[in-house]
Amino acid sequence: MTFDFLKKYKEKFALIFSKGERKLRDFFADNGFQCDGCGKELFDYPVHRFCAECEEKMGYNDGRNCPKCGRKTVAEGVCLSCKSRLPKFTVGLSPFVYRGETASFINRMKNGAPVLAAYFGERMADCFLEKFAQHSAVAGGKGILVVPIPLTKEREKTRGYNQAVELAEFFCRRLKDKGVEATLDVELLEKRRETAQQKHMNYRERQENVSGAYHVHKRSACRGRTIVLIDDIMTTGATGSECAARLLGAEAKEVIFMVGASLPELK
Ligand SMILES: [Zn+2]
Ligand SMILES: [Zn+2]
Repeated sequence: MTFDFLKKYKEKFALIFSKGERKLRDFFADNGFQCDGCGKELFDYPVHRFCAECEEKMGYNDGRNCPKCGRKTVAEGVCLSCKSRLPKFTVGLSPFVYRGETASFINRMKNGAPVLAAYFGERMADCFLEKFAQHSAVAGGKGILVVPIPLTKEREKTRGYNQAVELAEFFCRRLKDKGVEATLDVELLEKRRETAQQKHMNYRERQENVSGAYHVHKRSACRGRTIVLIDDIMTTGATGSECAARLLGAEAKEVIFMVGASLPELK
């Protein structure tokens, strides 16, 4: 279906360009037919949101990864971070490794370029389906509940958006397009107090920093549900673990922590 659509589409454009309709081409380039990564013209947008050059730079989280948190590991089995403290979420998953160009794209999405959430949200959905297509909640079950990690109301106002909400929207939309029952709930979790910048904190400090900051707004909505918790990055996993603990405390069946990119295990 997608392939046919793409083929038709390409043929149509090839015809237009062969006739030298340069103006039309410029019109489309100015109106969204551009790579979300570098702005170069991209005629099969949004089938592809990144051009081949940008796609080439992305660090996919393939190969060996931690069976608990999903980060790329140097050896077989659970990563060192999970070994020292097992996160509360059921399992973690990420399509990309938080390194190099991938980290730059993620940071841009977070700091002023929410348009990049479309690319990451869709890759997250593909990664999720690859792993959970046969999961009881996905394959004809109750469906999944998609919950982005919230910012405080004040922070969201200052930034203008919450990148986790943007990701969750595209994640949900893609799953629905693939026939998966996915419900987005941006109000289930609430962040009630501001937490300090976590950049230079270790796991224990981060855990103390986030402890009690998140509140489950509608406890009854969690009961028995498979929840996919969405965030942009996983570093130590402390925030995901804290939110998952709250959701599981409200009797969620399981919490899958789905992020755009996760920090790899350090050698
Ligand atoms: Zn590009
Ligand atoms: Zn791990």
